[in-house]
Amino acid sequence: MTHTSSSLTPVSPERTRVGFVGIGNMGTPMAGHLIKAGWRVSVYDIDPAKVRAVVQAHGGTAAASLAELGKISDVVITMLPDGRIVRAVALGNGPSDDCLPKGLARGAVIIDMSSSSPVGTRELGAELDRIGIALLDAPVSGGVRGAVAGTLAIMVGGDRELAERHAPLLNPMGRRFYAGSLGSGHAVKVLNNFVSAAGLVAAGEALIIGERFGIDPKVMLDIVNASSGRNNSTENKFVQFILNRKFNSGFALGLMAKDLALAMEVAKAVEVPAEMGRACLELWQDAEKALGGGADHTEIVRHLGEL
Ligand code: NAD
Repeated sequence: MTHTSSSLTPVSPERTRVGFVGIGNMGTPMAGHLIKAGWRVSVYDIDPAKVRAVVQAHGGTAAASLAELGKISDVVITMLPDGRIVRAVALGNGPSDDCLPKGLARGAVIIDMSSSSPVGTRELGAELDRIGIALLDAPVSGGVRGAVAGTLAIMVGGDRELAERHAPLLNPMGRRFYAGSLGSGHAVKVLNNFVSAAGLVAAGEALIIGERFGIDPKVMLDIVNASSGRNNSTENKFVQFILNRKFNSGFALGLMAKDLALAMEVAKAVEVPAEMGRACLELWQDAEKALGGGADHTEIVRHLGEL
């Protein structure tokens, strides 16, 4: 079998068979875009009901195991909750475990689009390299809405030439940015989420203080959005998900707390004190304990004090 993914030609729907692991809130619309763009996609999820639902809604082929998916794929995209699970999928936790290398040929490529540990990604890349499998990191920002619209920001890390060759596969899902060497995409992603998480908390606290002072939160949002304090939360999240109490952004609070912990793991690795980052992480971890990791991340505002 020829694995074109590691040759010098760019991947293409005609030559390259794609596996997709992790068909959740994000993975479902992302795999759907690939299928719509003409790629031959096989899907696997630990939850077989999700695989059935995706194949029914978008097409593609169902794989019953990671080994089976590996056998019928040249490139495998992972969109899993965290890097620990990506590692288990990519290498297995033990010799008898179902995992991708049981089916993948040498020269295959794994593209991890999950928000994984940047430090862990560098370690995983080195281990996969020893068995002839290349790794790229390509996490995303833009939420479920961005995934559905195909407008995600995709932050690519890894060998630059390999990244360029896989551009045609990423393009249907959003806009690509090359971040740097392996793990850089994951680092930008979690550092971006630190900025986003801090912005949501700052705006939440400001609106709660303002309301207690007698100011209508909607009025205050309008003013902040025409002023220097505006951010993605003031411009979008408060109106779409918080003031209407829908709390349905589709991004779990536990996943945001995980991303903050990973951002602080990077800070520690490069010896930056990041005092604000650590305070922010503590707040999100407290909220996770109080509300549960499955709560929507926008519910952090309930933890700060009701609006
Ligand atoms: P999700 O929980 O909806 O989806 C994860 C999927 O992985 C589920 O379908 C689950 O069944 C599957 N899974 C778990 N363990 C598995 C295993 N061992 N083998 C195969 N499948 C397994 O999560 P999501 O919201 O789609 O997020 C996925 C990733 O994208 C996370 O890393 C998250 O941080 C990141 N992310 C999410 C958003 C968002 O708005 N939801 C935005 C940007 C990035």
